Amino acid sequence: SKEQGRNTYTFFTHKMNNDMHRRLQLEEQLRNALKNNKLEVYFQPLVDIRNRNIVGAEALLRWHNPELGNVSPDEFIPIAEQTGLIIPIGQFVIEQAFSASHHWQSHFMSQFKIAINVSPKQFREDKFVDLLTSLLAQYHINPSSVELEVTEGVLLSGDQIINSNLSAINDIGVSISMDDFGTGYSSLSYLRSYPFDTLKVDKSFINDITVDPGDLELVGAAIAMGHGLNLSVVAEGIETEEQYQLLSALKCDYGQGYLFSKPLPKAEFEALLDAQHKP
Ligand code: C2E
Ligand code: CA
Ligand code: CA
Ligand code: CA
Repeated sequence: SKEQGRNTYTFFTHKMNNDMHRRLQLEEQLRNALKNNKLEVYFQPLVDIRNRNIVGAEALLRWHNPELGNVSPDEFIPIAEQTGLIIPIGQFVIEQAFSASHHWQSHFMSQFKIAINVSPKQFREDKFVDLLTSLLAQYHINPSSVELEVTEGVLLSGDQIINSNLSAINDIGVSISMDDFGTGYSSLSYLRSYPFDTLKVDKSFINDITVDPGDLELVGAAIAMGHGLNLSVVAEGIETEEQYQLLSALKCDYGQGYLFSKPLPKAEFEALLDAQHKP
């Protein structure tokens, strides 16, 4: 009826207004958070599957907002992308990650690996590789200890700048990792066309490997394929001992997940490294 139609219309405009309001509110607060140093980089251990030793970390952004509580990166990263704020925020993450890594490389392990998420807009900047190069020098970071994690979204547009940035990054010796492997449509052809070093099997595949033989089969195939292409393979989202045992049997190289540790503030992560290096 006409009445129902109007109600549906009102419902949608309300919802749109609310969503839009939330977005605008988040955008403004995110801008302030960056300016006022309210963003923080956490570190989640990357472990060697063979012995569970910490060999590196993934840098993950956190935003503690006094009014809104903790806002998930899954909500604020897309807003940062759409508004262009991801450019200064992305640089902030790289600097924080490099600064911490330099400290850990000189105090604990010279080969400490740091993985950093890079979003499509950042990656498409023509100055991106220049920025990366100068930050590597400024923080005294060996390029081979850095891995940039990209998702299929980075590669989808397929334009020339992506190609040239990927080869330039490869040329300076920084590694490139395909994040969320298996969730997109074209991951396989991308692996063939671009200079990847690492494949990160998405946590949605790891979740059920102990109960779903199909998922176990897929993860086994992804690991074998990765190795066949000379890539290292990381499993993300390992939460149980049983999942860990299966991945170990499948000869997965590295792992991340709550079984080992959640992402931690810098000082807490450092305490883990310290404990590992006590005789
Ligand atoms: P991602 O890159 O796939 O990161 C892995 C996510 O899985 C992280 O969520 C991490 O906290 C979570 N995780 C780790 N171990 C486990 C586990 O055992 N179980 C479960 N259920 N989850 C686990 P987080 O930190 O909320 O980040 C979400 C996404 O936001 C990231 O997914 C990434 O796409 C994006 N993101 C986070 N930080 C940055 C950043 O600095 N730059 C960019 N561009 N994106 C970022
Ligand atoms: Ca990632
Ligand atoms: Ca992922
Ligand atoms: Ca993701």
